[in-house]
Amino acid sequence: MAERRTAEPVALVRDAAVTFAGRQSLLDVIRLRPAPPIRAVDGVSFDVNAGEVLAMVGESGSGKTTTANLLLGLLSPSDGRVMLEGRDLGQLSRRELARMRRRVQMIFQDPYESLNPRMRVFDIVAEPLRVHRVAGSAAEVHTRVREALAEAGMTPVDAYLRRLPFELSGGQRQRVAIAAALALRPRLLVADEPVSMLDVSIRAEILNLLRALADDHGIAVVMITHDLSTVTAYADRIAVMYLGRIVEIGDARTVLDDPQHPYTRALRSVVPVPNPAARRAPQVLSGEMPDPSRIPRGCRFHPRCPLAFDRCLVVDPPLFTVSGEHQAACLLVPGADAGDESAAETETGAEGPGPAGQATP
Ligand code: SF4
Repeated sequence: MAERRTAEPVALVRDAAVTFAGRQSLLDVIRLRPAPPIRAVDGVSFDVNAGEVLAMVGESGSGKTTTANLLLGLLSPSDGRVMLEGRDLGQLSRRELARMRRRVQMIFQDPYESLNPRMRVFDIVAEPLRVHRVAGSAAEVHTRVREALAEAGMTPVDAYLRRLPFELSGGQRQRVAIAAALALRPRLLVADEPVSMLDVSIRAEILNLLRALADDHGIAVVMITHDLSTVTAYADRIAVMYLGRIVEIGDARTVLDDPQHPYTRALRSVVPVPNPAARRAPQVLSGEMPDPSRIPRGCRFHPRCPLAFDRCLVVDPPLFTVSGEHQAACLLVPGADAGDESAAETETGAEGPGPAGQATP
């Protein structure tokens, strides 16, 4: 693990932003001003290579799901670009985009909801082939369904083909959902909290399966989770998101062993460690993540940051290189001063800090 398999990324995201129309508050109505836009994702850049597992970690509202929707071609960026296998999704015709979508498949959080309870396993896995019209004959459909189920660990395949979802365990259902995605032979799998609804005892099986699909089949995997401990043993790289931005990214081991952003440190402080001597005191962040339509000026993390100082209220830090591919968006990163010319005094249309450094309502 941890070796990045190829130089050519399967997916490449550059400076992507997604902005939605906001809703007017009562104050907006009284002041006759339009609702501020919601910036769900703001200047996000990363890539994912074949055979690599990239974990995107953050609280709900951090922009992980919006980023996943960009990769799936379900959303277009209002700024920046998203490229899959070297092709800019924004430049594709509808037909080309539909064809490209076969190459990116989603694994949903809840295998109890994502499978049609009235369909048998065979039909569940065959359905994407029929919808995308990628397998011609019935024999070909049969072959691909069997292959996909075997790759997903549903063996012996014959024992499962005629079963209905209620006859399967939670882990088996998630394997069937993965098989349905594999039937289309994707280059990229986006797994949204793939084990959060499963018993703890079977989580490792599913995470091992995703890891094996990357290792053995060269599939790129983006794993979305709010829980850093879920991904520690399975990801090659980790991208930590906060309020629409990647605030730290790098090799998984490096980010976990030497986190540079205070938000990453807070997430890591609650990751269980087996050695009692190595346990850390949990760091509890104050307050909630701010409303994405009212992003604090300066460093967007400053209202919750235990290390915030004066400049954090006015300077919006970009990702600074810590070493190699390890980057963090914090003014306290060693060497951040040297690269400070790119750290803009924010003109982001962001809300100014109130007296206590909080976003003004
Ligand atoms: Fe905290 Fe300042 Fe670093 Fe932002 S730039 S994470 S507020 S220390």
